[in-house]
Amino acid sequence: MTGAAPDPAACRRTEIADNLARVRQRIAAASADVGREPDEVTLTVVTKFFPASDVRILAELGVRDLGENRHQEALAKAEDLRDLDLRWHFVGNLQSNKAAAVAAYADVVESVDRPKLVNGLSGGARERGADLDCLIQVNLDPSGAGADPTRSGAAPADVVPLAERVTAAEGLRLRGVMAVAPLGEDPAAAFGALVEMAQQVRRIDPSATWVSAGMSGDLEVAIRSGATHVRIGSAVLGRRRAIK
Ligand SMILES: *Cc1c(COP(=O)(O)O)cnc(C)c1O
Repeated sequence: MTGAAPDPAACRRTEIADNLARVRQRIAAASADVGREPDEVTLTVVTKFFPASDVRILAELGVRDLGENRHQEALAKAEDLRDLDLRWHFVGNLQSNKAAAVAAYADVVESVDRPKLVNGLSGGARERGADLDCLIQVNLDPSGAGADPTRSGAAPADVVPLAERVTAAEGLRLRGVMAVAPLGEDPAAAFGALVEMAQQVRRIDPSATWVSAGMSGDLEVAIRSGATHVRIGSAVLGRRRAIK
């Protein structure tokens, strides 16, 4: 075979476009299964470990909601891509001493899981002069919060009081709940519990309608359970490799 070597950037674009089309199809099919419109579900592409160049491709393909789970990496991408009209969702474990800094660039913090974060987020949002959308991250592990140290989140009994704190804080807007299905548990049961929790949170603020649930492996279950937001990484971008 002769001819020019394939352009790696063009290949990457094709790969992402194909994957994205498949994920959008999966969202549409799962929505149709339960009589929901696909545009009732927001796709957030989680870009952790992937370069800003991939985010540019995603933006060209119409993705506006991006997720990151580590402050340094999120900040670097948000600064690099300031020219694009993007909504950054912080979905990771948040240290309280980083909360104000995250509020300076994030549009949504999905991982609010303890009262200690509220002051920092509120201060950061006020300084920025924009309201910050907040989701309460719920720990759905039936063996109790902290049983799986890789899964953070507020214990179910702490969710309503925490949501009340968020609502009362200046600059913060309570939007709903988020969870990751516990490893080894039935995701349908977990997401069902999350949707019940979401109803309790909505009583505090009727505009808190978001239910962020579902990742690459379980987005169908999440959508059938009532998720309004899915957070998809590997099904769009491929397997994550550690970056230096
Ligand atoms: C990485 C991550 C995702 C995406 O996971 P995939 O399985 O790659 O789709 C979703 N939510 C959170 C909180 C994450 O950290």
